[in-house]
Amino acid sequence: MKIILLGPPGAGKGTQAVNLAQKLKLAHISTGDLLRQNVSGGTDLGKQAKSYMEKGALVPDDLVTQMLQRRIQAQDVKKGFILDGYPRNIAQAKALDAMLKQENAAIDFAVYLEASEPVIIQRLTGRLVCKNCGANFHRKNMPPRVEMMCDKCGGTLYQRTDDNEATIKTRLEVYRKEVSALLQYYEAKRQLHRLNADEDADAVLNEIIRLAAKA
Ligand SMILES: [Zn+2]
Repeated sequence: MKIILLGPPGAGKGTQAVNLAQKLKLAHISTGDLLRQNVSGGTDLGKQAKSYMEKGALVPDDLVTQMLQRRIQAQDVKKGFILDGYPRNIAQAKALDAMLKQENAAIDFAVYLEASEPVIIQRLTGRLVCKNCGANFHRKNMPPRVEMMCDKCGGTLYQRTDDNEATIKTRLEVYRKEVSALLQYYEAKRQLHRLNADEDADAVLNEIIRLAAKA
């Protein structure tokens, strides 16, 4: 089973990916984690990525794609994956299709998590992120057991400076432009399901599991 999760910041993509991977016993591949792991592990790709990050530049598409290509060949990915943070554009979507085709495989479906702006703003303005492992928490919806400390690794939590209302609105606008071509791409292939992500996380999770059972 190979599932792609798409959705704006604040739609709950990361949380759904983690829970889905657990329920369906699939690997969770997040490009954020991939980057962190390659950089901290000092791989050749990680070293190249680091040189861009140190300059404050975006890591090129091609590097991320190479990291993904290696990752999907790993043993724990044999049963499938939940992909979170990739693809971000048509070039990446085509690269993904091509790398799966090499192994006579294809994605089963893509899910687009749609959330309304007030819900997204409520979620993001309360979001806390672990400095160490990147895990997400929320001041109200999902508070950490110990204040400002990560439940998973004990790292310090912080609020991202771009998680404020004005910046969130700009990020959403940028995201909508970016994602619309991708949605068309998967729609044309009849692989897209749109879900209402304003609902609580469990309802959304059950809906995706239902889709996976039918796929
Ligand atoms: Zn952590």
